[in-house]
Amino acid sequence: MKPILYIVIPCYNEEKVLPITSKIFLDKLKELIEKELIHENSRILFVNDGSKDQTWEIICKLAEEESFFMGISQSRNRGHQNAVLAGLMEAKDQCDITISIDCDGQDDIMAMNRMVEEYLEGAEIVYGVRSKRATDTFFKRVTAEGFYKLLNWMGAEVVFNHADYRLISSRVLKEFAEFKEVNIFLRGMIPLVGFKSTCVYYERLERMAGKSHYPLKKMLALAFDGITSLSIKPIRMITGMGIFVSFCSFIGVIWSVVIQILGKTVAGWASMTSIICFIGGIQLICLGVLGEYIGKIYLETKARPRYIISERTKEKQGDSKCLNE
Ligand code: UDP
Ligand code: MG
Repeated sequence: MKPILYIVIPCYNEEKVLPITSKIFLDKLKELIEKELIHENSRILFVNDGSKDQTWEIICKLAEEESFFMGISQSRNRGHQNAVLAGLMEAKDQCDITISIDCDGQDDIMAMNRMVEEYLEGAEIVYGVRSKRATDTFFKRVTAEGFYKLLNWMGAEVVFNHADYRLISSRVLKEFAEFKEVNIFLRGMIPLVGFKSTCVYYERLERMAGKSHYPLKKMLALAFDGITSLSIKPIRMITGMGIFVSFCSFIGVIWSVVIQILGKTVAGWASMTSIICFIGGIQLICLGVLGEYIGKIYLETKARPRYIISERTKEKQGDSKCLNE
């Protein structure tokens, strides 16, 4: 039995690139169907992440013209991770496998053939891994690779150079649906589900049009979110640092008592000030990190919905229409 594939594509303000890449995705889907790798009920599912431009209108038009296309729209912009999650959860009951991919054409769609083949050979999760970043700028390459190293060092285990281009079977997605947290970092969470997984390698290309939504600031925010959602290593590091500083202070106290007894005390204003500043700084950092975790607990206890779908393109006897839910 050939698997039904849903290609899940998050789109945020992508009116420039969508008309170009939608054709490429469609050709790929048709090719996979022709090669008898996937079932003809396979679909391309666009997730509009509260775009402010014409993205949703373009998706509706695509769905009207071609029954392979369908779309859902989030009630507002919730970020890339939530958009992918919304798409995966929407797809999981209608298909056997999903492949999530960005809509800008940067991830090489040729890798999809190998992903599906790996699935047919028994893998439940297939990670798309960038083998080279030749087309990225030096800055993007260094910061992006630093991002993966920092994540791993901080205890959030991720597959090096893998972003959100991956195949996941619906069996894994059904288990993953039980992960109810609202702070989501998919590339760190999916490996936690387990099951047989493998990697396929591809070269990352340049964005076909439009511009990146991940400047350094957002990437740092994502790294910080990833670390604090997946690992408590920073809290352990604070404890370690506390023990180290206390040990140094203990030696300092002994030293000052000895100096006092020997009668060699000096004014010592500079050293005193620097110690106070140093300890003050460390305490503030530690409080900040602890605060971040408390903030996360706060958000988790509220358990607000992780995405809200406001509209869907609906299929009607072969053709699709844009409907309000
Ligand atoms: N994206 C999204 N919501 C956002 C930001 C981005 O759905 O708030 C989508 C975007 O349309 C694209 C993907 O996430 O399909 C990756 O974004 P981008 O290409 O800007 O990131 P980069 O590849 O530069 O890291
Ligand atoms: Mg991109």
